[in-house]
Amino acid sequence: AINSAISPTSVQPVAIAHTPFAEKFAIPRQPQLATAARAVIELLPPYNQPEALVGLEQVSHIWLLFQFHQAPADDPAAPRLRVRPPRLGGNEKLGVFATRSTHRPNGIGQSVVKLEKVEGTRLWVSGVDLLDGTPILDIKPYVPYADSISAAHNGIASEAPATVSVRWQAEARADAQLQGQRLGEDVVALVEQCLAQDPKPAYQQPDPERRYGVRFWDLNVVWHYPQSGGICVLAVETGG
Ligand code: SAM
Repeated sequence: AINSAISPTSVQPVAIAHTPFAEKFAIPRQPQLATAARAVIELLPPYNQPEALVGLEQVSHIWLLFQFHQAPADDPAAPRLRVRPPRLGGNEKLGVFATRSTHRPNGIGQSVVKLEKVEGTRLWVSGVDLLDGTPILDIKPYVPYADSISAAHNGIASEAPATVSVRWQAEARADAQLQGQRLGEDVVALVEQCLAQDPKPAYQQPDPERRYGVRFWDLNVVWHYPQSGGICVLAVETGG
């Protein structure tokens, strides 16, 4: 049968993403923004055969097509035609098809990520912007001559968003290093790269007293916005 005969419910994940991001908050808003965000893409039956990956070791980057499985489903009876991209401070509304919003028809996302290693039926990738457990609908090689357009422009998102400075309380940094050794991950870099994106909503004026927190793997990362500007990481702890 041709594709148009396939009902949308017949789309099945080919893989699942294991990522550091246990919740949506503080995930980079696009891939490549946090190179320390490493993930494993694990093929699922019936595609969990190394054969399905033959040749991929010749490719540096891949496209992941995935389902925003934790985003609200769009209701075709009341379709959301306009969304508020966080980039615009949450004030301006744009057409859904002018944005990469997670709240969209069919809930399909796409990210280009770096392919670090192919190991059996697992792909080690980096630079992800995916929640842990994200269903992967398809995997395709990035094709530089076709996918990289040097003259391309985007008036809404012309360059990577501005970052904020990230400082550490000494103990928090030492804990992040220890936890990184346990996990075999660069926790310090991941925290710095993700928090530099400033996860809090753009319209929020943070009170220095207010604590913000997020879960990366099994770690609670706690920070605040000191009077002096930027972000200060206060704690990196397990449990909770
Ligand atoms: N690069 C993709 C794209 O353009 O289609 C995703 C962009 S979207 C703006 C990135 C955000 O989606 C992340 O910051 C995270 O909050 C959210 N997200 C990631 N994985 C998700 C999932 N499985 N379900 C719902 N939201 C998710």
